[in-house]
Amino acid sequence: MPVAVSEPDCLFCKIAAGKVPADIVREGERTLAFRDINPQAPVHVLIIPRDHYPTAAAAGAAGEGLLDEIAREAHEIAEAGGVAEGGYRLVFNTGADAGQTVFHLHGHVLGGRGLEWPPG
Ligand code: AMP
Ligand code: ZN
Repeated sequence: MPVAVSEPDCLFCKIAAGKVPADIVREGERTLAFRDINPQAPVHVLIIPRDHYPTAAAAGAAGEGLLDEIAREAHEIAEAGGVAEGGYRLVFNTGADAGQTVFHLHGHVLGGRGLEWPPG
């Protein structure tokens, strides 16, 4: 179960509800994907569950297969963006020290340029 289906003050819940506009690239039954407002690569798409899980850890603990679904969606988005073959990164910043700023689970799909490792 999600921590809450929707949190009133959560930006990504508002995007999922259509109350805040976003450049949506893909819609699934349980997920939604839209372009990051501050892209860090030519392809930079965020994939969120429609329901509110604060982190990847919370969604994983719920055991509903959402992270699998996000990984599948990420690959579809990478294919559509022409970066599946060359490679792309799927990132879940989890917690403030990792740089998570929006506490509604989102996978970043990044591609279209050389990506360094380790990340900053
Ligand atoms: P994180 O730092 O992992 O929590 O990622 C949050 C991401 O959300 C950042 O890359 C932001 O640029 C992005 N972001 C914030 N507000 C919006 C918005 N309204 N629409 C699309 N992306 C957003
Ligand atoms: Zn939310």
